[in-house]
Amino acid sequence: MNVIMMGPPGAGKGTQAERLARQHGLPKISTGDILREAVQAGTDLGRQAKAIMTRGDLVSDEVMIGVVRERLDRADAQGGFILDGFPRTVKQAQALDEMMAGRGPFIVIDFEVPDEELIRRLRLRRVCSRCGAGAAFEEDGAGADGQAEHCQRCGGPLVPRSDDNDESVRERLIVYQRETRPLVEYYRARPTFRVINGAQHPDRVSHEVSLAVASSARRQAKWRDAGATSGTVS
Ligand code: ADP
Ligand code: ZN
Repeated sequence: MNVIMMGPPGAGKGTQAERLARQHGLPKISTGDILREAVQAGTDLGRQAKAIMTRGDLVSDEVMIGVVRERLDRADAQGGFILDGFPRTVKQAQALDEMMAGRGPFIVIDFEVPDEELIRRLRLRRVCSRCGAGAAFEEDGAGADGQAEHCQRCGGPLVPRSDDNDESVRERLIVYQRETRPLVEYYRARPTFRVINGAQHPDRVSHEVSLAVASSARRQAKWRDAGATSGTVS
């Protein structure tokens, strides 16, 4: 099973990707996490990405497509994956279609959340300064209202993410509308595209993600069976 999580910053893609990956024993591949680790480790990629991320802009398609191609080629991704944060542009989506040729279909889930709610969440979001774990939208909402002070995983201090300042958030929302939102039109006609209201409680969203994955898998099977003869499924 291959699943793509799409949506604006703060929509909860990361949280839902994490849960779905755990449920199905699949790797969660988050391009944001890959870039943050690269920044932390001071690699070439990290040095290239750091200032761009702080501003809230996108790392170039060329670089990101290379990163994802390399990651999807690894052994642990051969049985399926949950992808979070990629594609973010039409160019990246086209490249993903090419990479996925011969690897089976993928489900695209788009999380919709109003801007005011995204801004509220990103203001509240805290991550662990030691291990990088997210805290703001964790199970039981721990940290969601700022009550948690330490990382539940390692006990490290929680801090706002460096790109969650108001200026960068504003820029990311603009970039999302301009670069990523057009992907909804790119994917909408596919039988495995689903839109979910991401403004609901995280558990409710998880439930709808499970339903979407199940119905999409059924649709895929139907598509596959019928596709050989007619090429289309209603
Ligand atoms: P969010 O969804 O909250 O904006 P992410 O952790 O997904 O955060 O990404 C953080 C930053 O990493 C983005 O603002 C962008 O600069 C960079 N980034 C992540 N994925 C991509 C991508 N597919 N293409 C270009 N830049 C990316
Ligand atoms: Zn931690």
